Amino acid sequence: MLDDPAGGFRRAGRLTGLDLSEIVRISERAALLRAEGRDVVTLSTGEPDFPTPDFVIDAALAAARGGQTRYPPTAGNADLRAAIAEDHGRQLAEVMVSTGAKQVLANALLATLDPGDEVIMPTPFWTSYADMVRIAGGTDVQVACPMEDGFKLSPAALEAAITPRTRWLMLNSPSNPSGAVYSASEIAALAEVLDRHPQVWIISDEIYAHLSYVRFASFTAVAPQLAHRTLIVNGVSKAWAMTGWRIGWGVGPAPLIKAMTAVQGQSTSGACTVAQAAALAALTGDRALLDDRRAAFRARRDRVVAALDAMPGLSCLEPDGAFYVFPSCAALLGDGRSDGDFCAALLEQAGVAVVPGRAFGLPGHFRLSFAYSEAELDEGLARIGAAIETEQAGG
Ligand code: PMP
Repeated sequence: MLDDPAGGFRRAGRLTGLDLSEIVRISERAALLRAEGRDVVTLSTGEPDFPTPDFVIDAALAAARGGQTRYPPTAGNADLRAAIAEDHGRQLAEVMVSTGAKQVLANALLATLDPGDEVIMPTPFWTSYADMVRIAGGTDVQVACPMEDGFKLSPAALEAAITPRTRWLMLNSPSNPSGAVYSASEIAALAEVLDRHPQVWIISDEIYAHLSYVRFASFTAVAPQLAHRTLIVNGVSKAWAMTGWRIGWGVGPAPLIKAMTAVQGQSTSGACTVAQAAALAALTGDRALLDDRRAAFRARRDRVVAALDAMPGLSCLEPDGAFYVFPSCAALLGDGRSDGDFCAALLEQAGVAVVPGRAFGLPGHFRLSFAYSEAELDEGLARIGAAIETEQAGG
């Protein structure tokens, strides 16, 4: 827990219910078990196992040696912003660079939410969304999008969730944790609802755009009529295997970008200069590597889905993007046993770390990341299969 009444520490009321990330907790527990000598396979983290490309590292070294070591402009280096603007066919004033896509999201929510403002999030959602909204003083409105619906928000469910207090719809395609990808026609159908509700702005988190195994549709490409109230979020973390460089960006209407820049200016200031030079090299460099990596992830996806499908008691939807699969383990639960208990048993007894669905707002599932080597995936899956078999045999 974060509170310590005995020590006199009291946290802000808007942090009620906030705890450390369950994903981080599981990774830490796995590390602890490993330190004790246990053999643990970790399939819980959303981080590509590929190295950052050499040409990107070279650009960072050259930037550091070349003296790019001073405070950057708050909204990001002009050359990187220009490259992003060009990529999106937008103006410089519509682009800002932050310390990861995560900070883009935080900036947007902090810059816009007042107490009582509502943010709609199709559920399952990336764990941070709800907590970020609460930290910013808003109210998260979780709309269940079960597996039967492909984990996607329907126009009717969106319509039903909108109130006069709705400020944002947070969409994430391809999705973490479900791998769902909205098609152009599905986006168009949501946009038709949004057309009727001008108070609702749209965050389209497209951080996995380059890791889509079906045709990817960007929100503003399908619904340009909503571009004046849409924030596109992207970055280099996932596609270029640059999670540690912490560079993400937002593309949206200039007044929003200006307000987000003001927030960032009073918190972290501009993102790391050397990392921005690296991101510029990534963005303007040869993109053939993105195709190679997408193909590698796709092969892993097929391998993982085939293995999970063969396990009794699990059912899963083939992810169309990102590097996660979100199987239902509901048939293995009940009698007071939750998805959290199921995942805890996998970690403690079988030595494999995955994340319970409740961390993403949809219990009865678990998230397995396939951003790992085939050897690790095979070993982890074998352990899950064996654990389920032992259980079913009453062992
Ligand atoms: N959005 C989603 C859906 C993510 O999964 C992540 C990373 N797990 C982020 C944003 C944050 O990315 P970054 O590393 O650029 O902060």
